[in-house]
Amino acid sequence: MSEMRKVTLINGDGIGPEVVNATRQVLEAAKCPLEFEYQDAGAEQMNRHGTNLPPSTVESVLRNGVALKGPTATGIGVGPQSANVALRKQLELYASVRPVKSIPGVKTRYDNIDLVVVRENTEDLYAGIEHIVVPGVVESLKIITEKASTRICRYAFEHARAQKRKKVSAVHKANIMKLSDGLFLDCFRKVAREYSDIQSEDVIVDNLCMQLVKNPEKYDVLVMENLYGDIVSDLCAGLVGGLGLVPGANIGTSSAVFEAVHGTAPDIAGKGLANPTALLLSAVMMLQWLKEDVAAARIEKAVLKVYAEGKVRTGDLGGSARMKDFTQAVIAHLA
Ligand code: ATP
Repeated sequence: MSEMRKVTLINGDGIGPEVVNATRQVLEAAKCPLEFEYQDAGAEQMNRHGTNLPPSTVESVLRNGVALKGPTATGIGVGPQSANVALRKQLELYASVRPVKSIPGVKTRYDNIDLVVVRENTEDLYAGIEHIVVPGVVESLKIITEKASTRICRYAFEHARAQKRKKVSAVHKANIMKLSDGLFLDCFRKVAREYSDIQSEDVIVDNLCMQLVKNPEKYDVLVMENLYGDIVSDLCAGLVGGLGLVPGANIGTSSAVFEAVHGTAPDIAGKGLANPTALLLSAVMMLQWLKEDVAAARIEKAVLKVYAEGKVRTGDLGGSARMKDFTQAVIAHLA
């Protein structure tokens, strides 16, 4: 059995504590060699800590090198910076990796989707540099750098190579944002030259969205700036059955935070109705990253068996199962 590994566990807001608890139950039932260190982040922590991202949370992730995180809420309009954005910036979690794969048994328009969205996580309009020029006129700055663009494009090609994937597509709007997206595209083209074993192409983001709806099987690895990545990730989640299913990883040079693509789902929070699959599959990605491949495969297989059997479905997929029923079904299928 492998050595125990400490993992920072962040509940987050909304459905966060519920899906984190379900995932923890499965990890414990699978006897994964993990020890959990609970830390706080999210809007609900403002009253307790006066911040949505206490320094102790960042220190814990840095110390452990790895975290599993529930979604955190960010208010619309004036207010503090999102805990997610702050965490990604402070830990330099520059690459967001979101594998989007059809799950046999989940009925959608397509059953052959297998792509990866690689999203730049540290800059773009998420730099949060906004100001009122004069009343009624606001300016938001889109920051794109050669360093971050080159780093994320290289990550995408390395990921493609490691996962034996064939093609990387750069997603942009360089026809309109000639300087910023133009720089991103230049960086992509330069990096692509170093990877002659992998096909490369570029696609304008609006066309990509249309193509994804019509011919999603055309795509393999997609790499893009932060905001496009946010939007395209949700579109891709819709292709395979919704936000309840798609996992994610935020990878940095010294740590990694694993979390679902979905948000806090306030409409179903606290009701025991959420689908924990996205966080469970994020935990599978975490186990793979920790080189716990056997445990990762066991949990992934158990989740897939529950879907293949088709008896236990949460509400987001048209079923009536509660989260605890789904969690128990996964535990029962652990071989
Ligand atoms: P954010 O702005 O934080 O990314 P969002 O606007 O994308 O959030 P979500 O909180 O992800 O919104 O929820 C969008 C919809 O998807 C809601 O109807 C929600 O109930 C549903 N949803 C999201 N996650 C899950 C889940 N794990 N299980 C079931 N339904 C979910």
